[in-house]
Parts: sequence; C-alpha cells; structure tokens
Amino acid sequence: MVGIELEDVSKCYGSTKVIDKINLTIKEGERVIFLGPSGCGKSTTLRMIAGLEEVTSGHIYLGGKEVTPLPSGQRDIAMVFQNYALYPNMTVQDNITFALRANKVAKSEIQERLNSALEMLDLVNYRDRLPKDLSGGQRQRVALARALVKRSKFFLLDEPLSNLDVALRQSARNQLIEIHDRYQQTFVYVTHDQVEAMTMGHRIVLMNKGEIQMVGTPDEVYNHPANVFTATFIGSPKMNIQEVSRQGNLITVGKQELHLSSEWGEHLSQFTSQNFLLGIRPEHIHIYREKVDNSFLAHVSKTENLGPNYAIYVETNSTQWVVISDIRNWQPGEECYLTFEMDKIHLFDVESKESMGYPSFS
Ligand code: ADP
Ligand code: MG
Repeated sequence: MVGIELEDVSKCYGSTKVIDKINLTIKEGERVIFLGPSGCGKSTTLRMIAGLEEVTSGHIYLGGKEVTPLPSGQRDIAMVFQNYALYPNMTVQDNITFALRANKVAKSEIQERLNSALEMLDLVNYRDRLPKDLSGGQRQRVALARALVKRSKFFLLDEPLSNLDVALRQSARNQLIEIHDRYQQTFVYVTHDQVEAMTMGHRIVLMNKGEIQMVGTPDEVYNHPANVFTATFIGSPKMNIQEVSRQGNLITVGKQELHLSSEWGEHLSQFTSQNFLLGIRPEHIHIYREKVDNSFLAHVSKTENLGPNYAIYVETNSTQWVVISDIRNWQPGEECYLTFEMDKIHLFDVESKESMGYPSFS
C-alpha cells in the first residue's frame, strides 16, 4: 500500500519558488530519508506533508487519501523537530502524555503507551524529573517519546539529532531504527548528513534547489548515481570528476590514455558524443611508486590523514585527483603512478550531467 504520495507539489514564497513540482511515492512502513544541502527544501517538503505549510500547487496523499486541504491536526502524523520545546514545569511523563490527556485518550491506554515509550527510550528512571534536570540526549529522547505515544501511522522527523554530540547521535540513530522496526510507521527523516542517510534509510531522496535529484537505496545512490550532483554529494572525499574523450576503447584524460573494458566500450557505442565526464571514487584509484600496467604518471600535491587511511591529492596535466591510500609516507612533489579500477568508473553527459548508465557487469 502507498504510505505518502506527492503529486506535482510546488511551493512558492512570494515570487520565489522553493519546491518545484516534486513527485514522490513512499511505501507504507518505509523508512525514507530526505537528504540535501542546507536550504534545498527538505523542511518545507516535510512541513507540507505534515500540513504545517500549505502547498502552492499539487496534491498530497496519506494512506491513499488526499489530505492537501486538511490542517495538520486532521492528518495522522507525529512530528519531531530539531528545536523541540519541552514544557519546563512538567515532568518527563507529563510532557510525554500531555497531548494524549488533552485529546481525552483513556487513562489505561495512556499508561500503556507511556510505559512502552519510557522503556523503549531508556527513560524509565527519569519519568518524574523536570527537563532542566536532564542531559541534552535525555531531553531529545523525551521529545521522541512524546511523538511516539501518538501512535501515528506517519512519523516525520526534521533533523531531530543535530543538537547531539557524535556518540549520542550514533546511539539515537540505532534507537530510531529499533522504534521503526517495532512500530513500522511510514517514516520520513530529514538530514543534511550523508552518513545518517546512508545508515538509516531504506531509500534516500536526494534534493537540491527545490528539486529531487535521485531516489534510491543507499547502495543505488552510492554505486549508480543518477547524475553528477548525486555522485559528488555522497561520499567523502568526494568522487573525482574530469572531462575525458573517447576513441574506441581508449579514453584520454589530460594527455594520458586508459583502456576501457570491452563491456564499457560496447555500452558507450550507443552514444554519438565522444566527450564525457568521467567519475571515479578516491577508493577506486590506486597509487604506486613504480609504473604498472594501464597506469599514468602524476605528482603528489598534498596528503591528509583520515585516521584509518590517507587522502592523497595528486596532479597531472592540470587535472587533479584525490586518492585513498593506506601508505602514509607520500611527500608533496613526489612522482607516482595511478591506476583506475575500470569496472568502477562512472560516466556522465557533459551537458546534462546525467549518468550515461552502466554496462551489465556493474
Ligand atoms: P532545508 O530544510 O533543506 O535546509 P528549507 O525547506 O528550510 O530548506 O528552505 C528552503 C528554501 O525556502 C530556503 O531557500 C529558505 O530560505 C526558503 N524559505 C523557507 N521558509 C521560508 C519562509 N517562511 N519565507 C521565505 N522563504 C522561506
Ligand atoms: Mg531544514
């Protein structure tokens, strides 16, 4: 069944269009992440789904039913914001149950939902505390519990963990996945953090400038990005992109020639253009001190210590590449030879920046 559907949804503030005809279908019970740079329209889209923001044009459906004209209170949603506010003079349990009491939910039902949420979020021992006597992470969990007890079919979260430090975020992420596994809500989570998106999402909706760039599983967006924006937004250090030209199974990068595999050669024979953008992730380039087969000469310009390995920045014929290596002692100015894992390359159209697809082996 369909969970959430957006049909040609646009949003303008005055004459500025911030969301441009978005179409999206989210399955019932799916965990979907809206990912994209700050200002790309993630919160606006989520708030339109929640009914906190009117759409300028288009339609929104929840559970197959059109909700476009309905106010937030008449949509079966629970929402958690980055800047959640707890009532300072209410205990943890009163904060969590406030909305249920206001809606006259039966007392026994409130107790059952409260206890289940306290337990799920490790808050049992804090139920009588005031917010001021809690840590940031505990307050965040109270805000989650408050949304959880609504038992809504649609759970919408807007950067709910961004006030937490790295270690807390990690455990809160796992807790959110557990919550979702238990309650199976249709779950939409907004973040600008690619790691959060990759680890939490069944599917990622990558946005930029009010448009959807790609919808896919974490594997799909990482391994088969639909365009240059997706390719370079996901992955760190980001994917190398350089313009290349092709003749038969040979591609020329700067002044260097590389052999394409026969699968790529065959795949590319359907395109008339001889110039492409070649993309390759830093982990798919290998760096050597001696010349090896199908390699080309470059010079090291700088290195960065990433902890488990090193990012080596190299230059050749006025092209620059970043390579991941676990060899530590590369020095600026040093000669090196690069090879590409030719079955891990990506090719994009120079004009449209769209992917040219992949041969069937990848
Ligand atoms: P994100 O959540 O991806 O960071 P937002 O959805 O908050 O982005 O914002 C998208 C764009 O809409 C931004 O350019 C922002 O400045 C603009 N915007 C958001 N809210 C308003 C508003 N109330 N009035 C005018 N512009 C707004
Ligand atoms: Mg936002």
